[in-house]
Amino acid sequence: MSQGTTIARPRRRSEKSTQNGNTRLAVVARKPAADWQYASAPEAHDYIKLQDRYGLFIGGKFVAPRSGRYFASIDPATEKPLALVAEADLRDVDRAVAAARKAYDRYWRRCAPQSRAKYLYRIARSITERSRELAVLESMDGGKPIRESRDVDIPLAAAHFFYYAGWADKLPWAFANAKPRPLGVAGQIIPWNFPLLMAAWKIAPALACGNTVVLKTAETTPLTALLLAEIIEQADLPPGVVNIISGGPATGSALVRHPDLDKIAFTGSTEVGKEIARESARANRRVTLELGGKAANIIFEDAPLDQAVEGVVNAIFFNQGHVCCAGSRLLVQESVHAAIVTKLHRRMQTLRVGQPLDKNTDVGAINSRPQLEKITELSASGDSAGLVRYQTECALPERGYWFRPTFFTGVAMSHRIAREEIFGPVLSVLSFRTPSEAVELANNTRYGLSAGVWTDKGSKNFKIAAQLRAGVVWGNTFNKFDPSSPFGGYKESGFGREGGMHGLLPYLELD
Ligand code: NAD
Repeated sequence: MSQGTTIARPRRRSEKSTQNGNTRLAVVARKPAADWQYASAPEAHDYIKLQDRYGLFIGGKFVAPRSGRYFASIDPATEKPLALVAEADLRDVDRAVAAARKAYDRYWRRCAPQSRAKYLYRIARSITERSRELAVLESMDGGKPIRESRDVDIPLAAAHFFYYAGWADKLPWAFANAKPRPLGVAGQIIPWNFPLLMAAWKIAPALACGNTVVLKTAETTPLTALLLAEIIEQADLPPGVVNIISGGPATGSALVRHPDLDKIAFTGSTEVGKEIARESARANRRVTLELGGKAANIIFEDAPLDQAVEGVVNAIFFNQGHVCCAGSRLLVQESVHAAIVTKLHRRMQTLRVGQPLDKNTDVGAINSRPQLEKITELSASGDSAGLVRYQTECALPERGYWFRPTFFTGVAMSHRIAREEIFGPVLSVLSFRTPSEAVELANNTRYGLSAGVWTDKGSKNFKIAAQLRAGVVWGNTFNKFDPSSPFGGYKESGFGREGGMHGLLPYLELD
């Protein structure tokens, strides 16, 4: 681990070169006198038995796709295919929706709430029992460090099932003077950054409220949801209550356009979300959208600076910045700007970028080649604009998709990297003088998903939070989740909430 680094200004811009798709450091960190490394601590994965090819989970069992087509899910750390996965076409989508409709009419809407809860508890317990296997597979398929999938993704996915199991038989008491009824069949589409967790966020509340579902996984990370399908099969859920299909945008589009759905729940990019909003308006169908973000993380001069730097690292570098609510804009009060830049650069040199299955890894692989290209292109726009680039200086593995944790200083809101969602470990640092300037900068975005405020003063924290147009505002922390806490956005980050009691509403008709 590199220690005792200092910031040195780039001597010449020609110091830059390109390796593995990343522009090399423009700022040079001094090498430590005695370099030492952690020994690697790989998580075992030889017990993960993947099938060569996976079908679609429809009507309670795995079936071959009528499309006859399969695509490979790639391990982004090795670029090797892990398994072939079925690609659902229009006929497959139709079959899945028909299975969900039948299950809704025959069993699920009539199922006693206590029984619905029993099934959900069963799924939650199985996720917990198979958590190690799920975590390893999540890291292999998506590239995130095992520490993240083991300590965050999988426990939170189980917690969502436990939490909504608790609601299933209490719905009549949840909403005053209303008789909650399920909507029917929900089509659900999820992204690649939290594959199992997003599946849990979608399936658990829908089922608790008495709906049946067709869930479409993301094309680069289908495997843990398919393991969840196995868990659901073993939990003996009535066939067709949960259907899980795989495929890309065409499959998603076929699902969105299916005439026999009562609701669409979508998590993904704002561009696709807008298309889905238009389609849902045409079909006069209920919809919830959880979309992109460009969160501001605001550090005031009275904040505990070391703690704040740790929060910044958590907000943007862990999980490769593949987080919709990542704090990708850092707003620092001018008087502590230099101190924060120094501390952040020093802390960055201790980040371990590498194999997702190594328990020491902080930053894993970028999820796919197109995502790596997008991050590379957008950060190159920072160089073209003459911004100063700081990076973690470390060797990257030969194969796979990698990007060094990076931040730029001298950023203004007119720069592309401050405006566009980058979805990678790249941070834009801006400065401000007064609290009102901080609020203005933070709200100066088309997104409104999350934000963070770092200050020693509780009253200031609340006062600033109240002025931020963001669905979630963290105070002296970042990226903390709990199933009982609602999550969702303002503006182009979408509408509707997932999590908590609010997360029940999108799946209920209240008479
Ligand atoms: P994406 O919009 O490209 O894809 C998301 C899902 O939609 C995938 O399953 C994809 O196959 C499907 N899809 C693509 N085109 C479609 C179409 N025309 N019709 C129907 N379905 C279609 O997004 P992504 O790159 O997979 O995910 C990253 C995005 O997701 C980021 O913008 C991120 O901020 C957002 N995200 C938001 C949240 C949240 O809670 N707000 C959570 C995670 C990710």
